[in-house]
Formats: sequence, structure tokens, C-alpha cells
Amino acid sequence: MLKANLATFDLWGFCKNKEVLSSSNLKFEFKRLQQDQSVSRVNWVNWQMSGGCSSYNESLVNICGTMSLNLICTNCGSMYTTEINFQRGLILQPSELLAENYDESKLTDFQDVVACDSVVNIECWLEDELLLSLPMFPKHLADCVSALYPDKKEELFLLGSSQNESIKPFKGLDQLIKNNKSNT
Ligand SMILES: [Zn+2]
Repeated sequence: MLKANLATFDLWGFCKNKEVLSSSNLKFEFKRLQQDQSVSRVNWVNWQMSGGCSSYNESLVNICGTMSLNLICTNCGSMYTTEINFQRGLILQPSELLAENYDESKLTDFQDVVACDSVVNIECWLEDELLLSLPMFPKHLADCVSALYPDKKEELFLLGSSQNESIKPFKGLDQLIKNNKSNT
């Protein structure tokens, strides 16, 4: 019964009744997340959405969780696996106008205000939050080389230094000077 109503979900009632939804009893595909250009694969998403009220007695939806993704590193172009935590409190307002004119000094760091005139598609709502928590420029946490070749970092380092040794910028200069001298 719950599933049938998800596309037209009453968030106001959800907050009023302090209900809870989570990934343990609901599975979503999150197609937009899967198709995001920085995402190579969505491994799993653990989420919880709970209804309640803010300290100003407004309807508040808390969303939190963790997701595991394979992202494309913008630095080296290869894939890496990462876990991202997300946490947001969304204060409901009955119209765009009220949401726009909301006194933002009332918000805490994790809170935002959204217009919700009647019913919502709950997957869409949740997915917006997941997309917002993606890094703007996904990148290997450490440097790309050691992330891609954790066992070979030392070898690569040694290879680099031996190559440096073999490059002798003045190699042949002695011979050149000798040749010039013998020509004069
Ligand atoms: Zn990288």
C-alpha cells in the first residue's frame, strides 16, 4: 500500500505523524544519480527519511545516510570507489513565495527550506539530496598514482629517480667543445 502512494506522497502528514521511511524497507533505482556524468556506478545507498517538526514548530523532513559510489576522477580520468555521507533537514513551506521569503537566520547548517504545495514524488525528493551531496570535482583523495598503484608507489618513485639520473643535460658537451677546438 505504501509503495503505491510513493509518487504522490503526503509529506505534511508524514511530518505530522512523525513517520519514518528507510532503505531497509524501500528500494529506489535512483536513475538520475546513476546517469550523472561523474558517476560510474551506484554500489548501494543507505538512507533514512523521518518526519517531525523544527524548533519553530514547522514541518521538517530529516534525510540522512551513506552511499557507496564509483566516481570518475576529474584529475586522472580513472574510476575510484568512495562513500559519501549526507544529512539534510528540509523545512516545508506551503508555497514558493513563502519558501523564498523564509528567514534563513532560523536555519541550522544542515537545514534548508523547500516549497511543498501538496504531494511529492518521494524518490525524486530523496534523489535531489543525493545529487546535491556529490562532489563538484570528484578526485582521488590522495594523489592519483598512489591510489591507482598502492603496491607500486615505491617502484614508480625509483623508476622516476633513475630516469632523472640518466638524463644528463650536458651529456656530449665535452665532446662538442673538443670538436670545436679541433676545428679552430
Ligand atoms: Zn585520480
